[in-house]
Amino acid sequence: MLIIRSKYLIPDLEKCIENGAVAVKGTKIHCVGTFDEMKMLAGIEKIIDLGNAAILPGLINTHTHLDLTNLHNRIKPTANFTHWIFQLLGARIRWKEEDYTSSIEKGVRYCIEAGTTTVADIANTEYSFSVLKKRPLRKVVYKEVIDLNPDHAKDVITKIRSELSDPGHENVNHPPMPPPFTGGNRGEDRRRPDLFRIGISPHAPYSVSKELYHAISQLVRETDMPVCTHIAETQDEIEFLTKGSGNFPVFLRQLRAMPASWQPPGITPVAYLKGTGILDNHPILIHCNYITDEEISLIKYSGASVAFCPRSHLFFGHAGHPVQKLLDAGVNVGLGTDSLASNDTLSILDEMKFLSHHSGISPKTLLSLATVNGAKALGWESHIGQITEGFEADLCGIALPETRGKDVYHQLLGAGSKNIFTMVSGIICYQASFL
Ligand SMILES: [Zn+2]
Repeated sequence: MLIIRSKYLIPDLEKCIENGAVAVKGTKIHCVGTFDEMKMLAGIEKIIDLGNAAILPGLINTHTHLDLTNLHNRIKPTANFTHWIFQLLGARIRWKEEDYTSSIEKGVRYCIEAGTTTVADIANTEYSFSVLKKRPLRKVVYKEVIDLNPDHAKDVITKIRSELSDPGHENVNHPPMPPPFTGGNRGEDRRRPDLFRIGISPHAPYSVSKELYHAISQLVRETDMPVCTHIAETQDEIEFLTKGSGNFPVFLRQLRAMPASWQPPGITPVAYLKGTGILDNHPILIHCNYITDEEISLIKYSGASVAFCPRSHLFFGHAGHPVQKLLDAGVNVGLGTDSLASNDTLSILDEMKFLSHHSGISPKTLLSLATVNGAKALGWESHIGQITEGFEADLCGIALPETRGKDVYHQLLGAGSKNIFTMVSGIICYQASFL
């Protein structure tokens, strides 16, 4: 048994234990308390003292694209989202396998060094599956699906279903997929917090047809796969869906991806999702930058979660995010970094620090967004997101600044606080050299 101790231990949102410690046995949390209590336990093999630090539940990143990590500082900030996508497509047009794999590897390292223990990652290629499968990070890897042509929906879903029925298939054209659901309690299956789980991500309403969204929704209902989608990210998206005009039709015609028969549904993005059935699959709704009060009610009623990416939001110069309205309405909101093509770090702690300076959200609530809410978004709130007996041993240790007179939550979000320790499933993945 391993004991990890520090000046503070914050096992959940209700408690902060001074001179706290956690006992880890195998992959699970054995017990939690003060160090004086923990040191009396039998069978202690090792004690790690993090010193002037706070031990927290491992941080959870509810939205990222690790395969874009090598594009850091390669894409110019622009308020025109379609220009950003063009830059992105151009920057990786000649990428080969090693460019993708090195990008994903680097992304994993950055996450672990930042105290992140779980990620919800989007896979644009099969390399995300093959690389992430072996890495010491808890993750849902979502197969990205893009096709706006309604005539293709049947073929696309048939191909995905065939990959599902052949889970051992692993080559360039066919990423490995989860086996089909074979029985038992589907809800239980989804709630098992595997280190590697495969989900599906219909990309966005401007890149996926209504027919394909509908077919994916059916598939998710049958298999209980986790699902996420980008939604209400830009004003352009609203204009495209409500009127069929703006930058997206121009962009899609340039890519020859605009179906001749396409007609705007004439409704807002979340209402559109409701019509496809996806909203009822407990999806993670990525961004939700531009939504109405009616859409907030739809999200709340559906039980979907929102992934808010604060610094990526700033990168694109969006108007203020409705995060407070979502929280007030009781919607589950988690934090995401998005990719390094629109952010500077893959650190959820940095997102919390940013929000503590640029929003009125309290430090305790920020901690919940980064831990329990992230766990809930993935359906894993009974296993991760808290340091509780029987939960997975996913932890991080944040060094505290040498400030006095502030509570630990404010110290955590102060200048100089930095992750120094990361454990996933009882394995120490990162430890600062001075420890
Ligand atoms: Zn994204």
